Amino acid sequence: MKRVFLFFLGSVIASFLHNRIDRKIRKQNYLFSFSRCSHCNHRLYFKDMIPCISYLFLKGKCRYCKKQIDHLCFYSETAGGLIFALYSDPWQIISLSILLSLSLWDIRIQKIPDQELFLLLPVILFSRIDSIRGFRFWIEWIETVSVLLLFVIMTGRIYRKQTMGEGDLILLSVLFLSFELRERFFLLELSCLLALFWLFGKEKDKPFPFVPFIAVSYAVLLIANR
Ligand SMILES: [Zn+2]
Repeated sequence: MKRVFLFFLGSVIASFLHNRIDRKIRKQNYLFSFSRCSHCNHRLYFKDMIPCISYLFLKGKCRYCKKQIDHLCFYSETAGGLIFALYSDPWQIISLSILLSLSLWDIRIQKIPDQELFLLLPVILFSRIDSIRGFRFWIEWIETVSVLLLFVIMTGRIYRKQTMGEGDLILLSVLFLSFELRERFFLLELSCLLALFWLFGKEKDKPFPFVPFIAVSYAVLLIANR
């Protein structure tokens, strides 16, 4: 029962995050205005906005105009619910929620805001406060980030285009602080593998959001580390 409540709480927070990003992109006030259908502009009521449940009950369609509701809304609510139901460490819940928000930005506009990205840094540092004090930890972290940078520069030279965005690079460098050496490479490998799997059969030249793959790999690694 506790997990069901936590799932619901997480999905409510994720629904707010999704709405906030959606309205910011459309330059609308996200705190003091009613939610409306993006197709028919009909005001949405409580029964239309119960996270996950309304979407499933309405079969993914608007109650008023019957047009398709954005799938991303449902996926983000489910992801938020899972974060709260599956993780118990508050630092992990906060970092995963920030990653969810960054993923939504990346999916929407292929860019992540610096403020949210740098908000992640103190959260990760606090969560690892006991193990990041050593000199060796920082030397290894600098080495891993250098290898990542060299990898991106080399692949950029070979393919004659930027292979990883600046935001993705900073994000990975920050997340590396959560793990030991081997796990950092596992995070990078799993993110790339998931992205390659997703890209299979799709147009290769189009830019695609990489942050969601990093976020999923990070979530998997946290569970594997228990
Ligand atoms: Zn509608």
